[in-house]
Amino acid sequence: KQFKDGLEKTRKGFVEHVSNLMVRRRKIDEEFYEELEEILIGADVGVNTVMGLIDELRAEVKKRRLSDASELRPVLSEKLVELLRGEQDNSLNMSQEGPTVILFVGVNGVGKTTTIGKLAHKFKSEGKKVLLAAGDTFRAGAIEQLEVWGTRTGVEVIKQSPGSDPAAVMYDAVQAAKQRNADILICDTAGRLQNKSNLMDELNKIFRVIQREIPGAPHEVLMVLDATTGQNALSQAKLFGEKSGVTGLVLTKLDGTAKGGIVVAIRQELNIPVKLVGLGEKMEDLQEFDSEQFVHALFA
Ligand code: GDP
Repeated sequence: KQFKDGLEKTRKGFVEHVSNLMVRRRKIDEEFYEELEEILIGADVGVNTVMGLIDELRAEVKKRRLSDASELRPVLSEKLVELLRGEQDNSLNMSQEGPTVILFVGVNGVGKTTTIGKLAHKFKSEGKKVLLAAGDTFRAGAIEQLEVWGTRTGVEVIKQSPGSDPAAVMYDAVQAAKQRNADILICDTAGRLQNKSNLMDELNKIFRVIQREIPGAPHEVLMVLDATTGQNALSQAKLFGEKSGVTGLVLTKLDGTAKGGIVVAIRQELNIPVKLVGLGEKMEDLQEFDSEQFVHALFA
């Protein structure tokens, strides 16, 4: 799915409200700003971000001497692109030589396994040699679920039995990646939220093994967040992201929410680039995030 289809709900539930407001009020006055503020907050853009955004719009309106509300549409989309772009690069960091190691973290149910499968498919279709590491040895069924994606995408899964030490799985996986000249190693990790300190210890151990075996790795630590959980996703990210050295975010299920503004809130509050977005359940429904394309798909 492309942004255009995947963002249908957000377009209907958010952008159309903005458009209607512009047509209905016509004039840029206090009531207009108030209503716009409400719509933006309703779309989960986040209160702080909305306040800042409205201030910037006011300044632009003054500077450009705008009076008709419809003239504000391109200004709003420009500002959103700026907010989403941030300073860091949205593209995935790839190793110059040797396997690129991408570690996935995130709580259960957010779409971690699905995203790993989709990403494996994407790399595979680019002609790259991909391996998967079944690092969630804790949740029942997690290894099998990853193997289903392995079969579906034609990618080998490195695994041990359930309950085994995830760091040992990672060691095996890294050795296999080196021996087989893999281009990419994608690693799953456990996502239980209870017992948070254990999980952090586990992640640290995994980190150490990977770092020791491949200098410069992991090249990405991607935290997966479920966009349909809105502000919850944001607090989850704050909790989880603090200590785990996250380098990028994946927002899944954007097709399932009308509140796509959450992407802006998360980008603003965490200052971690959004690198990938999930736009459906199928193998192809993963897009590299591009702020311009994203906003264009919403407003064009
Ligand atoms: P995990 O527990 O984090 O590994 O989550 P799963 O990968 O098992 O995904 C949980 C559910 O979300 C599954 O039913 C997936 O099909 C679904 N899912 C994952 N990503 C997306 C997405 O981008 N869009 C939609 N609509 N569903 C998704």
